[in-house]
Amino acid sequence: MKRRDFLKQASIAALGASVARAGAANKRIAFGGIQIECSTYGNILSRMEDFTVRRGQELADYRLFSVTKSYPHPFTPVFLASAVPGGPVERKTYDALKSEFLGRLRELLPLDGVYLPMHGAMFVEGMVDAEGDWISAVRAVVGERCLMSASYDLHGNLSRRVIDNLDMMSAFRTAPHIDREETHKRACDMLVRCLDRGIRPTLVWAPIPVLMPGERSSTEYEPAKRLWGQLPAMTAQEGVMDVSLLVGYVWADEARATAAAVLTGTKPAALHKAATNLAQQYWDARTEFRFGVPTGTMTEIIAKAQALATRPVVLSDSGDNPTGGGTGDRADALAELLRMKVRDVVLAGIADRPGTEACYQAGVGRTLPLRVGATLDLQASRPVEVSAKVVFLAQTGTPAERQAVIEVDGITVVLTARRRPFHEIVDFTSLGLDPTRFKFVVVKAGYLVPPIAAIANPNLMALTDGAVNQDIEHLASRHRVPTYPFVRDLRWTPATIVSARSRG
Ligand SMILES: [Zn+2]
Repeated sequence: MKRRDFLKQASIAALGASVARAGAANKRIAFGGIQIECSTYGNILSRMEDFTVRRGQELADYRLFSVTKSYPHPFTPVFLASAVPGGPVERKTYDALKSEFLGRLRELLPLDGVYLPMHGAMFVEGMVDAEGDWISAVRAVVGERCLMSASYDLHGNLSRRVIDNLDMMSAFRTAPHIDREETHKRACDMLVRCLDRGIRPTLVWAPIPVLMPGERSSTEYEPAKRLWGQLPAMTAQEGVMDVSLLVGYVWADEARATAAAVLTGTKPAALHKAATNLAQQYWDARTEFRFGVPTGTMTEIIAKAQALATRPVVLSDSGDNPTGGGTGDRADALAELLRMKVRDVVLAGIADRPGTEACYQAGVGRTLPLRVGATLDLQASRPVEVSAKVVFLAQTGTPAERQAVIEVDGITVVLTARRRPFHEIVDFTSLGLDPTRFKFVVVKAGYLVPPIAAIANPNLMALTDGAVNQDIEHLASRHRVPTYPFVRDLRWTPATIVSARSRG
C-alpha cells in the first residue's frame, strides 16, 4: 500500500473508532478551566507568561486528569490555564484567556456536561468574584440544560454567583493537597452519574464567616484532622453525593472570602442538615486552630534552630511563600542569616532574574557583587548587597528556568529566574545540593509538603512579612464581610443557600 493510501485508511479507521465510541457513549462532556490563587496584598500582577496553558491533547494526557479517560463518555479538553499563586491577574490576560475558553467551548456545542477544575481564589484587576464571572460566562454559553460540575482547592472562595451556576462540586480534603486526583474523580463521577441517570442534583452551600491561614488549618493536625476526617462517612449517607469543607483564602480582601460547607446530593433535607451541622462544627472549632509547628520571628526561629542538636532543621519563611501567593523575591531571611552569622545553611530560593543572569554572565567559580532580591515587588521587598561566589548554574535552554547557586559568607543561596517553590528533593539535587547535608534549610513555604517534611528534623516556621503574612488579624481589610477573627466577638448561626439551579 502506498504511504498516502495507508494514512487515509488509518485516519478513516480512527475516525470510525471515535464515532463508534461517541455513539455508544452519547453524552458530550467538555472540561477545563483556570487555576490561580491571588493575594490582594502583593504588588505584582500575574500575566500571561505566568500561566501554563494545556490545550487539547496535552490536557487530555495530563496525569492529574487521567480519570477523564475512564468513562464511556468522551471528555473533550478545552484548556486548563494554571499558574503559581501570586498577585492579581492582569485584566488583559484574564480577558484573553476567558475569550479563548468560551470560543473553544462554543465549537463543542451542544454539550450535556461540563467539568470545571478550578482553584477558587482568583482575583482579577478591577473585578470582584472572578470565578463567578468565569463560571457564569460558561453557563451562558452551554445553556440551562447542561450539567456543570466543578472541583475546587480547599482554599477557594465561593459566592452566590458560583453556586447559582453549578449543579455540583467537590473540593480537596487535604492540606497539604495530596488528594487532587481523588477530588477530580469525585467531581467527574458525580457528573457522569447524574448524566447517566438523568439526575438534576441539589447543591447546598453554607458560608461560615471564619478565615484563617492554611498554615493553621492543615488537615494533618487537629481540629482540621477530625473536621475533614468525617467527610467520607458523611458522603456515604443516603441522598448525599459529595460533602466538601473549604477553609477559604484569607489573603483576598473580598466580601466572598469565607470558609464554607458545600454539599451535593439528591435529598435536600439531608443536605441541609449535614451542611448546617458541618458549618456549626467548624464555627465551634474556630479558636482551636493552631500552627502545627513552633513559630516565631525569623530571629527567634534561627536562634531556636541553632540550639538544636538535630539536622537538618527546616525553617519556613512563610510570609513570602510563592505557593500561597507570596512574591518570592524577598531577601529578609538572607539578611537575617548574614546578620546572625549563620553557617552551614542552604536558602532556596529567591526569585531574582537579574541576579541569576549576572551569575550566568560571570560563570562558575567567579565572585561578583550582587544586589539580591527585591526585583519584583519594588514597594515591599528590600535588596541585600553581597559579594557572591557562583558555585553552580543549571543547564537549560529556557531563560526562565535558569537557576544559580551562590555562596555568600558561608551561606548557600539559590537564585531563580522565575518565582518557584522548592517542594521536591530533586529541586535541590538537580542543582548539586543535598539538603540533608546542611544544618539549616531555609525555604519560602508555609506548611511543608510531604517530601520536605520527611527530611525536616524538625520544621520551624518564621512568621515573616510578605504578601501572605500569617499575622492575619492585622491585614488591612476594606471589603470583607464581618468575619472571625477580624471581628472577634461575632455572633452567628448557620444558614444554607441552595443553588438557583436546584431551585429551578
Ligand atoms: Zn490550597
